[in-house]
Amino acid sequence: MSETASAWKAVRDRARIDEADAVAALREALVLPEGLRGRIVEDALRLASRVRAASAGSLRAEAFLQRYGLSTHEGVVLMCLAEALLRIPDSETADALIRDKLAGGAWRGSADGSGALVNAASWALMLTGRLAEWREAEGGADAVMRRLVARAGEPVVRAAVRQAVEIMAGQFVAGETIDQALARAARTPRYRWSFDMLGEAARTAADAERYLAHYHQAIAAVGARAGAELAPETRPGLSIKLSALHPRYEPAKRARVLAELAPRVVGLCRAAAAAGIPVTIDAEEADRLELSLEIFERLAREPGLAGWDGLGLAVQAYQKRALAVCAWVAALAAGTRRRIPVRLVKGAYWDTEIKLAQVLGLEYPVLTRKAATDVSYLACAQALLAARGRVFAQLATHNCHTVAFVLACAGARRDFEFQKLHGMGDALYEGLVADRGVACRVYAPVGSHRDLLAYLVRRLLENGANTSFVHQVADRAVPLERLTADPLALLPEPYAPSRRVPPPRDIYPGRRNALGLDLADARVLERLERRVAADRARVRSVRAGETAVVEPSDRGRVVGAVRHAAPGDVDAAVRAAHSAWRAWDARPANERAAILERAADAIESAIEALVSLLAREAGRTFADGVSEVREAADFCRYYAARSRAEFGSPLALPAPAGESNRLELAGRGVFACISPWNFPLSIFTGQVAAALAAGNAVVAKPAEQTPLAAAAAVALLHEAGVPADVLQLLAGTGEAVGAPLARHPDLAGVAFTGSFETALAIQRALAAREGPIVPFVAETGGLNAMIADSSALPGQVVADVIGSAFDSAGQRCSALRVLLVQEEAAPRVLEMLAGAIDELRVGDPGRADTDVGPVIDADASAALGRHIADLETRGRLIARAPLAGEAAHGTYVAPVAFEIALDDLPRREVFGPVLHVVRYAARDLERALGAVARTRYGLTLGIHSRIDGFVDRVRARLRVGNTYVNRNMIGAVVGVQPFGGEGLSGTGPKAGGPYYLHRFAVERTLTINTAALGGSPDLLADES
Ligand SMILES: Cc1cc2nc3c(=O)[nH]c(=O)nc-3n(C[C@H](O)[C@H](O)[C@H](O)COP(=O)(O)OP(=O)(O)OC[C@H]3O[C@@H](n4cnc5c(N)ncnc54)[C@H](O)[C@@H]3O)c2cc1C
Repeated sequence: MSETASAWKAVRDRARIDEADAVAALREALVLPEGLRGRIVEDALRLASRVRAASAGSLRAEAFLQRYGLSTHEGVVLMCLAEALLRIPDSETADALIRDKLAGGAWRGSADGSGALVNAASWALMLTGRLAEWREAEGGADAVMRRLVARAGEPVVRAAVRQAVEIMAGQFVAGETIDQALARAARTPRYRWSFDMLGEAARTAADAERYLAHYHQAIAAVGARAGAELAPETRPGLSIKLSALHPRYEPAKRARVLAELAPRVVGLCRAAAAAGIPVTIDAEEADRLELSLEIFERLAREPGLAGWDGLGLAVQAYQKRALAVCAWVAALAAGTRRRIPVRLVKGAYWDTEIKLAQVLGLEYPVLTRKAATDVSYLACAQALLAARGRVFAQLATHNCHTVAFVLACAGARRDFEFQKLHGMGDALYEGLVADRGVACRVYAPVGSHRDLLAYLVRRLLENGANTSFVHQVADRAVPLERLTADPLALLPEPYAPSRRVPPPRDIYPGRRNALGLDLADARVLERLERRVAADRARVRSVRAGETAVVEPSDRGRVVGAVRHAAPGDVDAAVRAAHSAWRAWDARPANERAAILERAADAIESAIEALVSLLAREAGRTFADGVSEVREAADFCRYYAARSRAEFGSPLALPAPAGESNRLELAGRGVFACISPWNFPLSIFTGQVAAALAAGNAVVAKPAEQTPLAAAAAVALLHEAGVPADVLQLLAGTGEAVGAPLARHPDLAGVAFTGSFETALAIQRALAAREGPIVPFVAETGGLNAMIADSSALPGQVVADVIGSAFDSAGQRCSALRVLLVQEEAAPRVLEMLAGAIDELRVGDPGRADTDVGPVIDADASAALGRHIADLETRGRLIARAPLAGEAAHGTYVAPVAFEIALDDLPRREVFGPVLHVVRYAARDLERALGAVARTRYGLTLGIHSRIDGFVDRVRARLRVGNTYVNRNMIGAVVGVQPFGGEGLSGTGPKAGGPYYLHRFAVERTLTINTAALGGSPDLLADES
């Protein structure tokens, strides 16, 4: 294996390794001569003292962040206000936002004048140096501001915040245009420069084109000004974010990204090479790292770029594989005979990485201790400095200890450079550049104020954080000795990850979070594709008396076959279950729980087989399949935990003297669990696990279209220890199996998920039975709306609309059907929505790059086709996704969005990838909400707004089971977002919620007259 190939393997293998192992490797790699550590700390202390002295009383960014950073509550409010105010198109909503924030207590300035309202205006004033005048004014700035707002109202705040942001922009952005930035750079010749064109990640092809053009213009402009006399390493350069250059820069789209994005970057690099300026590929989220390295390798091997030493890469030290990435770059440099500039950063997305790993149930890709990130940085810096000749080390940091370490390692060498962010670290680097002869490059964002905020919020988040060096250096309460301590000495021995950041498996009390599959790992995706192909190749013959199950993605492919229950089977199954349930109910809750937990483990272990089955039988994409398998495991563990807590020991109740009272929960008998095809594994398993956990026996009837996933779940539950008679599966149609099952006289209850109409039929059947009245838990559909006002972030709205409306081909009960968007925001939102729909790949769910699979069967696609035909006559087509070639053999419906009038809202659930969009005027909000309320469904609701009052108003008007604010509205997590609706949407209690098991149980009290046994010793004892 070549040096590059083995380094690449290490990069992959170390992505999510155990943190203690990662830190052990770092410690081993870090070699420091005796005594050097102490000298580094001394130097760090000197540097930090100078920085702190310089920042006192100045208007530097450090001081600014100290006072107004995101770690203060008012800082958060203020950033939210500023961020939204800059882009809200209508002043009515802008003022509503201001009123909203004013109404919150945070805006009433405190006595010492530190309230956020004061801050809003004093931002601007402080930075222009006029704050003192205000503070000295009668009554202080606080009173002045309040008088001013009272007199002039919201427009004053609006203007103040706008001005403040503009001044902030001046601090953190080098210019609105590249020419302005170049002019600024020319005034500061002691620094080198790298320009970054601000912008969000591209969501549409048009966005990506626009950013590409910006980069080309910037290269031309920088090239034209980059004096030819400058040595190559000192020349100004450009930093590039790959996410800006492709709308689907995602691991699952690898082939497409390599085919489409790589040539664009090659084009940029050629232009940069011709202009003689260096380029750095910025580091973004961890799940994009491998893809970015693959593109980087292409660039490094590109014949047209041979001999160009301007091709650079940013590496994040907080990633567990950082050191491996450094080794890989060095190997690549050697293999391609070039010197690669490597910008070492600590990383800007730490909180995002932590959250994502928890959501996906994956080990963290980043370290969880700040000191560990620092140590990683030191080890990587040392490796890069050691690789001189192959690597040009660019050490980006504002941390004095980190700088002191680099200086100590480098000794007399000056063949490296430091880097800092524009508007930060000046106090540190001005001295260093002058006194120690080191070079420093400024990372200088360029862009309009509108584009600034995403960047700014990241900076503030990172640098306003209590752990951050720049934050602490400005805080006189933090002793500098602590701030400049040796990070190696701060690591615990033996090493353990931070307690503040629990492992992703342990974030929920009482149960484990289900393990995920890393769909950012190309090897996992390849394995899943191979698995589906292999499963398809195993031809399953259909025997006499069996019914074939075919793939919705290709009706010619048989997934398997089942034997439908015969007429007498229903009765036999219920009777057998009935005679088995008492023994099951009599088992301690703990035992039942342990069996369910074993089943959860088994489901997790079978994840790849189950994802393949779901892709084939139900048309689920890999991402959908993984989350469904995880949900099934979560249900088992959650109900196990609830059963232990509530069924394990009786609840003691209050009692008068001489009496004991307790309440016990127990199983009811035999439950019928009737589940749908749209979550053939998780809903099926959830119902069954709940009934079993509560001490019931179960006769389960899965949807006719998806019996195999149900059979797989039953097999795993049986293997885990659920007796065969206690859990029985009956495949068949609703008429032949479901109807007689629901009528059976020995049933103790029914759990049903499906259409409202079927639920009603079951309810009638139950009502017509003689004997005890039994519980009926029904989860039915919804006509779910999302409402976005003009304070919402269009990019976020569109991403959440795409996921909510089209994931699982829109076949989720929670899926978005009606998007209400405020008219002022509509043009931008709908343009982006159309572009994002164009980017969807609709095709075989057995392929890793498919976003949307088929709908379940021909009946479903025909019904959707009729609805779409109707919309074509009444609505305006916004966009329709293209269908991939392979879609011809399956039941596919291309995701589509229509704009319709409010009066044309559908009356019934449209179960597929069809989105209805309605524009509303702010003054007509009530009418729009009324139209949604009149559908009488109440399952899920999405709200996108920065205005809390707006969220409250919508929530008060619409009675809905699950509301999601500023996020997508699907994917409820067991125990975290208990799921279920009201009105036409279901009976409750919520699945995956704390009250669910109660509906499957009987309650019994036991009262004992303890006095009858010989008095009340407790009472008598109290006499003393
Ligand atoms: C020139 C330049 C270019 C940059 N380009 C990029 C880029 O391409 N991609 C990118 O991601 N960032 C980039 N950054 C941002 C960079 O990541 C931050 O500025 C940097 O992390 C700050 O490091 P520091 O040494 O100045 O601060 P310090 O305060 O010493 O370190 C802050 C770091 O510690 C991490 N941290 C905080 N708490 C923990 C914890 N509990 N466990 C583990 N780690 C923790 C933070 O995430 C952050 O990375 C760039 C910065 C500069 C100066």
